[in-house]
Amino acid sequence: MDRFAHPVFADLPETVFETMSRLARQHGAINLGQGFPDGQGPDDVRAAAARALESVSNQYPPMMGLPSLRTAVAAHYRAHQGLDLDPEREVMVTSGATEALAGALMALIRPGDEVVLFEPMYDAYLPLVRRAGGVPRFVTLKPPHFRIEEAALAEAFSERTRLVLLNNPLNPSATVFPEADLALVAAFCRRHDAVAVCDEVWEHVIFDRRRHVPLMALPGMRERTVKIGSAGKIFSLTGWKVGFVMAAEPLMRVLSRAHQFLTFTTPPNLQEAVAYGLTKDDAFFETMRDGLGRSRDRLARGLSDLGFTVLPSAGTYFLSIDIAGFGEGDSAFCERMVREHGVAGIPVSAFYERGDVTNLVRLCFAKNDATLDAAIERLAGLVHAG
Ligand code: PMP
Ligand code: GLN
Repeated sequence: MDRFAHPVFADLPETVFETMSRLARQHGAINLGQGFPDGQGPDDVRAAAARALESVSNQYPPMMGLPSLRTAVAAHYRAHQGLDLDPEREVMVTSGATEALAGALMALIRPGDEVVLFEPMYDAYLPLVRRAGGVPRFVTLKPPHFRIEEAALAEAFSERTRLVLLNNPLNPSATVFPEADLALVAAFCRRHDAVAVCDEVWEHVIFDRRRHVPLMALPGMRERTVKIGSAGKIFSLTGWKVGFVMAAEPLMRVLSRAHQFLTFTTPPNLQEAVAYGLTKDDAFFETMRDGLGRSRDRLARGLSDLGFTVLPSAGTYFLSIDIAGFGEGDSAFCERMVREHGVAGIPVSAFYERGDVTNLVRLCFAKNDATLDAAIERLAGLVHAG
């Protein structure tokens, strides 16, 4: 261990997304690993950013975010999720959901507080919780349905529980939690007087006419939920790193104290363009969902035809395949897949700390048809090689 390093980071491996994208470049592989779309995102949203770069100030915007964006965020969530948010007191703009998460965990966890985490979990969560001094308590969700069960919550919660970190829809399992599961989480939060940080970056990327239910909308949760969103996912512009945080004023006050010393602000032209994009009508969001839903079906069908077991995907850019029949773990399988067959994926074990799930590989279907078809063809080679 490096003597200068904080123990949480000293022995931490590089994030699996960076590793797999590098391997994909090295091997000329089709990158179905890290989650980003093939396309450029909506032309008009990018044009709005370009215009704003020329016409609005490029100096520091207000620390809480441009008023135009905060107003647009509140209006957006009123229209799409029925939330009633005060744009001045309950909405803050961050540099991506990642900053929002880091800031919320820094601001809300006191050393020794217990934090309930649901695995599989996004790989940033655990190091950030630990760095903030939190003591993780895991709820392990099992394939293929990844449901939240009362007994598991009862085991994870204690009188020291301070915070619950939930991701819905869930990356990597592509689960959209049924309302019954959310109600269980809410009941435990109320009973234990815990704050819920709910990472809802995938809220618009859900399929088959499902509806996203924000945890904040459940009884008793309005005052104890920090809701996190990301324009990167809403507009298929993952490099933009414009996020938003919504919370009741007493929580927001402390969240803003962390944010002011993390990034303080986010590029103003991107904020302006996101404000424009959030006012788009329902048809835009439906077209995006329908397109991604078709891509999901195309990849799922191609893989099933090759004999793979494909797990259900209700949302996100991802589906998982079960590779148990290949006689190797998910990490070894992914290494072989990228090096020898030219397709990058993500081993789902990277999202587990405790549960021993090593038979799933996550693949990103947010790609054009030609990319998906080429990947399926290469995977046919893998199946034949055995
Ligand atoms: N949370 C989850 C669950 C994610 O999947 C991602 C990125 N895909 C993020 C947070 C990070 O979002 P951002 O790029 O806005 O920081
Ligand atoms: N969230 C993206 C994914 O799940 C990756 C983001 C990143 O690389 N940090 O693929």
